[in-house]
Amino acid sequence: MYADAILSVFAQRYKSARETFVDHVETSSVIERVTHLPHPLKGPANEKLYCDIAWAGSPKAEKVLVLVSGLHGVEGGAGSAIQADFVTRYRRLPPDICVILVHAINPWGFAWASRTDEQGIDVNRNFVDFDGTLPKSKATQIWQDLQDGKTDIHTVGQDREQFDLLSEGQYEDATAPYFGGKEASWSRQTIEQLAAQIKPEKRKKVIVVDIHTGLGPYGYGELICDHPVDSQGHHDAVAVFGGTVTEPSLGTSSSGPKLGLHDYFWHSQGDHVCFLTLEFGTFGTPQMLRVLADDQRLQQSGKLDWQDENTLDVKHAMQDFFCPDEKQWKELVLFRGRQVIEMAIDGMTEHANHNAR
Ligand SMILES: [Zn+2]
Repeated sequence: MYADAILSVFAQRYKSARETFVDHVETSSVIERVTHLPHPLKGPANEKLYCDIAWAGSPKAEKVLVLVSGLHGVEGGAGSAIQADFVTRYRRLPPDICVILVHAINPWGFAWASRTDEQGIDVNRNFVDFDGTLPKSKATQIWQDLQDGKTDIHTVGQDREQFDLLSEGQYEDATAPYFGGKEASWSRQTIEQLAAQIKPEKRKKVIVVDIHTGLGPYGYGELICDHPVDSQGHHDAVAVFGGTVTEPSLGTSSSGPKLGLHDYFWHSQGDHVCFLTLEFGTFGTPQMLRVLADDQRLQQSGKLDWQDENTLDVKHAMQDFFCPDEKQWKELVLFRGRQVIEMAIDGMTEHANHNAR
């Protein structure tokens, strides 16, 4: 369906994904502004790590679409490909629209094939008020039951209720998955700084699409909306993306209700800000929990040695799960990515016209 040259935007590894993205950005006529934000640590090939942010179209445009990749590190391949593809496809944008590509918001996780950041933080549970009382959940207990052999990964992975409780997020145990941290992560601070530059309060409309992988049916790109059901954000999501929008609070999503989501930060920026997660399925939840548990053990052992065979086995399994090197998966991702971007740009235009009438 797509030629190999088009699919060459995909890369499982941070280093080549970044090179592709930056190359495309540098030769693009639609990009008006680029910033390369250095991360304090390096990658496994001693490469420098950056979150690269490219603004397409006029930075002063009234309507802004923000496309984010790599919040969950290793999941970055799909979003990076969609971003690089966007840069090659668009030569210009409508004058009132700016598209901001946030490449590898958690570059350490992308480079080291981890779902967390360098502190073991699940960045998509990190958006809570750390000065207040941290929320409680049953996630740590379920993880402990898994460690103690009271239940097993296959059972939890197949049981929707158990999996939702495990993945809801927790703020107690840094050695367990879905740990939201004890403070704002580097990635969260970077997002907050970007929002300060965007100044959502001065824009007419802001849509944020955060691209993830691992949940749901193989290759399907689900648009998950965590706005409260009666809110303006939810109304806008449905107006722009139609019946394809799913809602964890209503049980229509492959994702359950969660703590500390990236969503909540953008929800707080105003009623005209609409946030969606674009989640691409791969090989199912039990397999995901298996590769994550192996990686969790590896991280805890403290032996992230890129020359070591066991390390590479675990890391390659992570990359193969979260960004399958399969033509049909890449085609599905790219098709859906293009479609969602087009709907967002059209929707912002039509929606504004509709309001003005
Ligand atoms: Zn994710």
